[in-house]
Amino acid sequence: MKPAPFEYVRPRTRAGVLAALAAAGEDGKVLAGGQSLIPLLSMRLASPKVLVDINLVPDFSALKISPTHVEIGPTVRHQELLTSEAVRKAVPLLAQALSYVAHPVIRNRGTSVGSIAHADPSGELTAVLSLLDGVVTIEGQDGTREVTGSDFFLGPLESAINSGEMATRVTFGRLPTTMGTACVEVSRRHGDYALVGVCAAIVLGEDHQIDRARISLFSVGPTPIVIDVSGILKGIRIDSKHWREAARFIASSVDPDGDIHATTAYRKNLVEVLSKRGLQCAYQNALDRVAVKQ
Ligand SMILES: Cc1cc2nc3c(=O)[nH]c(=O)nc-3n(C[C@H](O)[C@H](O)[C@H](O)COP(=O)(O)OP(=O)(O)OC[C@H]3O[C@@H](n4cnc5c(N)ncnc54)[C@H](O)[C@@H]3O)c2cc1C
Repeated sequence: MKPAPFEYVRPRTRAGVLAALAAAGEDGKVLAGGQSLIPLLSMRLASPKVLVDINLVPDFSALKISPTHVEIGPTVRHQELLTSEAVRKAVPLLAQALSYVAHPVIRNRGTSVGSIAHADPSGELTAVLSLLDGVVTIEGQDGTREVTGSDFFLGPLESAINSGEMATRVTFGRLPTTMGTACVEVSRRHGDYALVGVCAAIVLGEDHQIDRARISLFSVGPTPIVIDVSGILKGIRIDSKHWREAARFIASSVDPDGDIHATTAYRKNLVEVLSKRGLQCAYQNALDRVAVKQ
């Protein structure tokens, strides 16, 4: 199929983009990498009247890495983030998660901010934003707002971005060296969306014991689901009983839908298996980060 007719505008400035989005209102859509939007248009699952292409605005492609933060502009491609050594050092979870996102050709065009703005609950970066409490900067002609990961996702393909607005930046704090992270998932083929996926973060305290442990599940509910298991894992080193207890607790806290790819029971089993694997992997990565620092 072909998309329904639409007007196409390609402003060269931030002000031009915001004016075009404000003028289009509910009839407008941002076009970033097009890797999700173009298929939706072609299948006529979306039919906006105006497409506002943001790719010609020079400062939208900025990727800034400071001693405290990583700031991602709205046309920074997945591949640039995935391959940046500085990003990998500052926020390792970004590269860990992006290695599962689609294939190189899609990563060369698809944007990481677009992926978050798209709010697909199967997207790896939605789980990263929620777990690390990243901040999305939302701009419209009426002003700028900052929304944290825990408040950004409202439902499948629904976020805090209103019509006439766009995400102009996503910011992550540099992870402390006592924090280890991991992303693990199961999909039908490498590069497909996950049947179930887990991002995990462990913070070490005194004597390399666990101080805090959280996970963020994707492809499990209408938005990423963040669960804190610090109460179960606090103070332990590598005792297998506690890992299993934490994973069982996580699986018992969710009720994923079944579909043609996976039943509810299978998804719940994956949540348990992947939660244990993700948490243990994050713990090992935390030990490695602390060892490198010493
Ligand atoms: C075959 C295939 C496999 C894929 N596999 C995965 C996968 O495993 N995991 C995964 O996470 N993704 C996957 N994707 C999607 C890919 O990561 C997309 O690049 C991403 O979801 C959207 O980014 P984009 O820049 O292409 O956005 P677009 O397609 O341009 O836009 C997507 C939506 O987000 C909105 N949008 C984009 N940018 C902004 C912004 N700055 N502000 C406000 N709204 C905005 C658009 O208006 C549109 O509604 C896959 C895509 C394909 C085609």
